[in-house]
Amino acid sequence: MQHLSDPDLWRTDAYINGEWVSTSARFDVLDPADRTVLASVAECDATLTNDAIAAADRAFSAWAARRAADRAQLMRALADALLASEDDLARLIGLENGKPLAEAVGEVRYAAGFLTWFAEQARRVDGSVIESPWERTTILATREPVGVAALITPWNFPAAMFTRKLGPALATGCTVVLKPAEQTPLTALAIAALAHRVGFPAGVINVVTGSADAAPVIGEALTSSRTVRKVSFTGSTAVGKLIAAQCASTVKRVSLELGGNAPLIVFDDADLDTAVAGTIAAKFRNAGQTCVAANRVFVQSGIAEEYTKRLTAAVAELTVGRFDSGSAIGPMIDDDATAKVRRHISDAIANGATVVSEGSTNEAGDQFVAPIILANTTASMQCHQEETFGPVVSLTTFDTVDEVVEAANDTDSGLAAYFFTNDLGRSHDVSKRLQFGIVGVNTGVISAPEVPFGGMKESGYGREGSAYGTDDWTEIKYTALAHVAP
Ligand code: NAP
Repeated sequence: MQHLSDPDLWRTDAYINGEWVSTSARFDVLDPADRTVLASVAECDATLTNDAIAAADRAFSAWAARRAADRAQLMRALADALLASEDDLARLIGLENGKPLAEAVGEVRYAAGFLTWFAEQARRVDGSVIESPWERTTILATREPVGVAALITPWNFPAAMFTRKLGPALATGCTVVLKPAEQTPLTALAIAALAHRVGFPAGVINVVTGSADAAPVIGEALTSSRTVRKVSFTGSTAVGKLIAAQCASTVKRVSLELGGNAPLIVFDDADLDTAVAGTIAAKFRNAGQTCVAANRVFVQSGIAEEYTKRLTAAVAELTVGRFDSGSAIGPMIDDDATAKVRRHISDAIANGATVVSEGSTNEAGDQFVAPIILANTTASMQCHQEETFGPVVSLTTFDTVDEVVEAANDTDSGLAAYFFTNDLGRSHDVSKRLQFGIVGVNTGVISAPEVPFGGMKESGYGREGSAYGTDDWTEIKYTALAHVAP
């Protein structure tokens, strides 16, 4: 039960058609800090996934037909329920994901924010009347919900990645089947419990859980279903490509929020304290395990020494430990993640990078990686070519704007980029030239329900959040209404 003040939020069964569905097959959810078993969770198969799809299909017509204001009211009730349970939800996130409690509380509020934002947007899903090319004919362009949607989410934001998809789905009248990540199903199930409590009708929200072994089976059922009309996926680029390919056979709508490889550029004229604070914010949240994490830091040579000195001092303040220890940096999510970060560090050092500073894990355990700053990293190193997803700052110096823009764009990813400068003209120029969906200028904080979040190139397509965030969840229907003479 893990000491939740509301034991009803500790759920380990799948949630289908408004009921908790147990399975004989189970999989373990582990505490990433020490690999102990937290919970044994339902291992769903294709049959249960199809049950969930059928439930979402049955619920769809009535849900879509409800007044937007009524759907919005339930969404706000769910947001309020998340906030009222924020301590329990944050604890669940801390337990299964490992992020520090303060970050986990921030995530719950961020997650609730998507529900309130899209509750507001529900009443703004509108269309247009088009000037007709025919006499006495009215042309209408209206928006309709796409239908049953499959949501597939990663482990790094177990609450927010769910509600960032759930919000626009519910607002537009879609019903959903969620498949959360193997590592972090407990938060999603708790949110489903709250949705049940506030009165969402059976079948509107379904959650099918499964291990990494079950994921391809559940994924195949979702992507091959003719009932599911949309898949919204957040996760790795490799799995995103597979999902898109699988969805082709039924011509489903697909939204992909995939991996990043964010550049962070510090120009000579930047305010260095702002740049250092921005680097810490953009690099170390969730122990560096975010898709928008600054992966390659480019520093102009004139301020490289001073920036590095100040950054080193700031990084030295970051302590490492369990989610409830008051530390700033939690564990890596699993053994593969830890191994990848260590591989990137050793590859960089073997190829000529130097260690500027390395923190201590304070014997927190093998699953923790101490923050490390590497200098002289180059484009051929693994830490430039792939997202490291760990607390590693990789520093490279540069001289000219053209040189750094070319280097920043030298990646197949195009999610987030950051740069720091006090020159207004350069802000506009460099922002335009960066091939990324999200650009932070003089800030490392770029996520909010109000903004269109999404990537270019192999970071995916579609935008989540903002007034554009409902577009991918609706079909535009055009109707020609011709007058018939009596
Ligand atoms: P992942 O391995 O791609 O997993 C993402 C989700 O896909 C999980 O629920 C996973 O289930 C599921 N999955 C795996 N194989 C599948 C298949 N064959 N069919 C259907 N579903 C399948 O990614 P991750 O390691 O969890 O997340 C980290 C990645 O997400 C990073 O690349 C990060 O940059 C990206 N990310 C992007 C954004 C964004 O907004 N662009 C936000 C957050 C994270 P299992 O866990 O059960 O395997």
